[in-house]
Amino acid sequence: MKITLLVFLAIVAVLTVVVLLFNSFAPQLGSKVAKEIPENLKKSPNFRNGVFVNPVETNVSFSAGQILPMLKEMMQGNINRKPEMPIKNVPLSTTNFARLPANQTAITWLGHSSFIVQVRGKVMMVDPVFSKRASLLSFMGPKKFAYDFEYQLSDVPELDAILITHDHYDHLDYKAMLNLHGRTSQFYVPLGVKAHLTSWGVDTEKITELDWWDEVHVSDSLMLASVPTRHFTGRRLNNRFSTLWCGWVVKAGSTSILFGGDSGMHNQYAAIGEKYGPFDLTLLECGAYSIYWPDIHSFPAETATAHQTLSGKALMPVHWGKFDLALHGWKEPIEELVKIAEERDIQLVTPRIGEQIKLQNLDYTEKWWRSN
Ligand SMILES: [Zn+2]
Ligand SMILES: [Zn+2]
Repeated sequence: MKITLLVFLAIVAVLTVVVLLFNSFAPQLGSKVAKEIPENLKKSPNFRNGVFVNPVETNVSFSAGQILPMLKEMMQGNINRKPEMPIKNVPLSTTNFARLPANQTAITWLGHSSFIVQVRGKVMMVDPVFSKRASLLSFMGPKKFAYDFEYQLSDVPELDAILITHDHYDHLDYKAMLNLHGRTSQFYVPLGVKAHLTSWGVDTEKITELDWWDEVHVSDSLMLASVPTRHFTGRRLNNRFSTLWCGWVVKAGSTSILFGGDSGMHNQYAAIGEKYGPFDLTLLECGAYSIYWPDIHSFPAETATAHQTLSGKALMPVHWGKFDLALHGWKEPIEELVKIAEERDIQLVTPRIGEQIKLQNLDYTEKWWRSN
């Protein structure tokens, strides 16, 4: 009995050391919480007592009483949380990712929240993720759904900018950053994310950190603005809320687009719409929601309400079709939103993954997932 206890304790001790070593040295975890907080973080009105805070009170943890029903729901075998066959996506190899004339805007969705954006003669990427798992480990964690055409980093054109919404693994991908930092001129990131990027070798001169409502002019006719979302951040055990989270407004002449980032419902949508709307297109998250974490992701009805409050014209639901991050079926978010959009007369834009859409004609209504 004594020996069994000793063996058990030894295993626990070894595992603890492994976890601590991993937490100290694995590069994909990004930077640690700095002992000396950078001045620009300290100055932010959204940074209080060493952490960033949401626009409204937000609960990110669940109670002990929720664990059992959650586990029960996880075990349910009757929900298709993953596609049964590879998703019929569009290859990128023949797509024209050239810098387009100023009057043309194109967006290509690579699944989940990754996009290639061609606007005002610039080519940018939002949240480029190419790892096979949205996880700190390459062998464990949510695995990407199989696609007919798997995208490679070599499919990405030379970039003028990379925009990051927050530091979660399904948005800030270590592998993609290592590969792309030599092929992009600039990074625009929320406060605190610079430390992750520089720890991976990105040139500090290339990185612009923004607080909510900060604006940056990429050219005379192209402006980016970081806007509030309701979410959280963190890549390791002890750095929750140590970097900021945001959405991105892209304003190009009279054209306005919103990349919403990850967000639960909050009270800033009207202000964003008033300042930067009406939006020709909002790309809002619709997926990874749950009754167990209602504050930090939106249910489909909330996605629709957010779009309407923002004064959006067309709505493209994203944050689905690539990773299983919640307990719902993989088609549930889009099917729910289709119903709600019909009821509320909202124009939905539902291109295939990898299909380049043109902002001048947002007529993409094929319900491609139904035959998948
Ligand atoms: Zn997130
Ligand atoms: Zn996410």
